[in-house]
Amino acid sequence: MATIDQAFAGLRRLPSSHHRHSPKSHHHLRRPTHIVAARSSPKLSGRPLRVAVIGGGPAGGAAAETLAKGGVETFLIERKLDNAKPCGGAIPLCMVGEFDLPLDIIDRRVTKMKMISPSNVAVDIGQTLKPHEYIGMVRREVLDAYLRERASSAGATVINGLFLKMDLPPPQDPSAPYTLHYNLYDGSASGTKQSLSVDAVIGADGANSRVAKSIDAGDYEYAIAFQERIKIPKSKMAYYENLAEMYVGDDVSPDFYGWVFPKCDHVAVGTGTVTHKGDIKKFQAATRNRAKEKIEGGRIIRVEAHPIPEHPRPRRVAGRVALVGDAAGYVTKCSGEGIYFAAKSGRMCAEAVVEGSEGGRRMVEEGDFRGYLEKWDKTYWPTYKVLDVLQKVFYRSNPAREAFVEMCADEYVQKMTFDSYLYKTVVPGNPLEDLKLAVNTIGSLVRANALKREMDKITL
Ligand SMILES: Cc1cc2nc3c(=O)[nH]c(=O)nc-3n(C[C@H](O)[C@H](O)[C@H](O)COP(=O)(O)OP(=O)(O)OC[C@H]3O[C@@H](n4cnc5c(N)ncnc54)[C@H](O)[C@@H]3O)c2cc1C
Repeated sequence: MATIDQAFAGLRRLPSSHHRHSPKSHHHLRRPTHIVAARSSPKLSGRPLRVAVIGGGPAGGAAAETLAKGGVETFLIERKLDNAKPCGGAIPLCMVGEFDLPLDIIDRRVTKMKMISPSNVAVDIGQTLKPHEYIGMVRREVLDAYLRERASSAGATVINGLFLKMDLPPPQDPSAPYTLHYNLYDGSASGTKQSLSVDAVIGADGANSRVAKSIDAGDYEYAIAFQERIKIPKSKMAYYENLAEMYVGDDVSPDFYGWVFPKCDHVAVGTGTVTHKGDIKKFQAATRNRAKEKIEGGRIIRVEAHPIPEHPRPRRVAGRVALVGDAAGYVTKCSGEGIYFAAKSGRMCAEAVVEGSEGGRRMVEEGDFRGYLEKWDKTYWPTYKVLDVLQKVFYRSNPAREAFVEMCADEYVQKMTFDSYLYKTVVPGNPLEDLKLAVNTIGSLVRANALKREMDKITL
């Protein structure tokens, strides 16, 4: 989940309203895309547009609900309806509002966060939070089921099946349907092979996306994240009531952080790494060890691991197929946050389909999906880039991490961090405070003798 780092995105990012009103703000786009209006596409007669969403995580659930509400005939294919995605489950406050999440699906409201340095210096962050502000902690089996249920209530057909592959329209007939092949879990021992013809496909099937493979979307670098859910004694659980911990150091990860996040009646303890995947269990043991007094007497009730994408795939749209969420590669570096971005990209992509098809009455075209990509990149690309740079500066050595934790004590950093993380719309920074922060940050790094070493290593 995101913390300090989002603040820096905030210092540099324009508020979203600025994007809307100033055409000049478009100049920073990484790869300008061309929107082809779909209004010229053929009107469908006698049936609405048919779209399949593959994968029923936050990206798929949000996409399917938006499509169904928008008049599109929607199929949501999920292989495991009680799936508990390995995940810390931290979500920003704005997700609760934007996705209208009921409070009873949120296990904990975290208002305190401890950032703990390699030498175990703990800095309390979250002191600037207002009384109503918090980071939500959810169990993914609960959140995902809720979002799928809402898609179903909006009219989506939820299919419990494993998507296997799809036949693309032949080059000579590019407007022909996509034929999906899947294994329907209908209660029989091995399921039943089925096929489904649709006009468009949204791939929300996570980091190991088969949809991505079907359209030759290319690979991304990934981190492996490992997590244990540990049931700790009630007396110990009281400490984590509304508190989360983040540990940094070579021992817990060479390029990420370790965490202890509170859940309903247990804590989730985990870590991740891109560069030393083979050592993940060693890093996990070290994370557990760092928190050992606080989780003493605990019993591991679940062990889970999963890849986390490091950057978007080379190709996220091909014809009338688009990727969203982890399938597209939308997790922020440094923080490993992806739930909000998954739901948001699913919704954004589906909105482009609803708009392009005029409420499901016309065929859609690749241009409609490119509109989603353009909007996505314009809104979030700077955030991803800044977090990428921060990871390179602060996560590469213990002196740099000590400096990073020291910097977290700054109230201004905390305020910017939480505003950016919780709301994902960024208030412009105060120039004087920004300057002070920059000076303090450099001071911290120099004191830790880390700046030169780190800057030598990176090429920005
Ligand atoms: C250990 C760990 C901790 C994390 N902690 C956090 C955190 O605290 N906060 C945060 O914001 N992010 C966190 N993330 C990242 C977050 O989990 C992902 O970014 C998020 O789950 C992406 O959502 P998604 O809907 O794109 O994909 P997923 O959640 O992966 O959902 C994909 C869905 O597709 C289904 N599926 C896959 N293949 C098929 C198929 N062939 N047919 C049918 N269905 C299929 C799966 O069963 C699954 O339900 C963490 C990740 C890990 C690994």
